[in-house]
Amino acid sequence: MISAPQKMIFELGASGRKGYSLPELTIPIKEVADLIPAEFLRSQPAELPEVSELEVMRHFIALSQLNYHVEKGIYPLGSCTMKYNPKINEVVSRLEGIVALHPLQDEEDVQGALALMHELGQYLCEIAGMEAITLQPAAGAHGELTGLLLIRAYHEDQGNPRKKVLLPDSAHGTNPASASLVGYQAVQIKSNDKGLIDLDDLKRHLDDEVAALMLTNPNTLGLFETQIETVCRLVAEAGALLYMDGANLNALLGIVRPGDLGFDVVHFNLHKTFSAPHGGGGPGSGPLGVSKKLVDFLPVPTVELKDGYYFLDYDRPKSIGKVATFFGNFTVMVKAFAYIRMMGASGLKEASKMAILNANYLLERLKSMYHLPYPTRPMHEFVLSAERQKQYGVRTTDIAKRLLDLGFHAPTIYFPLIVHEALMIEPTETESKETLDAFAEALLQIADEASENPKNFSS
Ligand SMILES: *Cc1c(COP(=O)(O)O)cnc(C)c1O
Repeated sequence: MISAPQKMIFELGASGRKGYSLPELTIPIKEVADLIPAEFLRSQPAELPEVSELEVMRHFIALSQLNYHVEKGIYPLGSCTMKYNPKINEVVSRLEGIVALHPLQDEEDVQGALALMHELGQYLCEIAGMEAITLQPAAGAHGELTGLLLIRAYHEDQGNPRKKVLLPDSAHGTNPASASLVGYQAVQIKSNDKGLIDLDDLKRHLDDEVAALMLTNPNTLGLFETQIETVCRLVAEAGALLYMDGANLNALLGIVRPGDLGFDVVHFNLHKTFSAPHGGGGPGSGPLGVSKKLVDFLPVPTVELKDGYYFLDYDRPKSIGKVATFFGNFTVMVKAFAYIRMMGASGLKEASKMAILNANYLLERLKSMYHLPYPTRPMHEFVLSAERQKQYGVRTTDIAKRLLDLGFHAPTIYFPLIVHEALMIEPTETESKETLDAFAEALLQIADEASENPKNFSS
């Protein structure tokens, strides 16, 4: 439960009270003041809080408890995969040999770190069915930018960089933004009434100026693109490349590999699928896997292994160059590495199956009271609409705020844009049935309140 608002720190304490003790000054204060130009000196003492150390501690601990985080309760933000991150990952990433590393150390002194990066890259390539990888991008959107730079370099190498990138209208906002940043025109493809890509609209837009199709799969409605093989074939026939936004890979581990479907590029969100804290909780990492066609263009350096020796390969004449100062967010890689090793292939597959099961369970509990605009079985997340509640004047924002009253984090709201009054719910595999039930009860209670006492929601 969220506790009542408390006083500001300026309202606490008493005149003259102190939370510190410093040794006596050995230089007269006047002499120090004389060293500072007059215009920088205060005429009045600063109005600082006058509080004891204990008051400072209690104040900030109380504030920290107002924060909501995954250790406190379910965090069902759709598209964000706010799952619990096992603390062993943190322990491993803080081992002295890891935190004391410096990126300018000689290769032979950091063989262990390079081995970790190389092995992590191999795991990710295996998971996604990709040929090679760069670990440099610092987030999902940075991976997208890098992927589109590679696509551009590939087409330029073929003689024509092409002009357009196609994206379904359910795309994550970062996709069209990344396409524009690389100088491509972002062209929207419609979804059909099942929430999947409209094949006729896709065909209408495919021509020899299309550089790539960017697709999230499962898409932002949580639906698996069942026509994916046809989509991939059509795009490949037009000479365009296939980019998969792999931020939703949490639904696919050990089940489907984007490379097997025909994708040329896929970015990973280590801070979503591979269990590193995110959302104010720490830095991200958005490695990018590529198919054979794109290997030559990867950023330098890549991490390579030859005769038992790991090295950084800068000798790549067609490379797009660097996309990070050094090699990427190394400690996030360590967390992902620890997570993958701990889970193993069967554990990762189990995680995805549980993520899908949890989403479907929650949907079954909610769909009698909330409108489900695309009634297809979802994968790891689903999108409801508060259309029914809107008849009573209760909107999605009201429902989200009421959830906060009841002690739960709200889901993602008003996204994807193709659903009115959207509530996008991703419970993740780490929540128990009891927690899912408690969350479902809260949403069902809110649906009752909306029809019985809609006036209580007016803000
Ligand atoms: C989170 C997300 C992104 C962006 O990832 P960042 O690490 O936040 O840049 C892109 N696409 C989808 C589908 C996502 O869920």
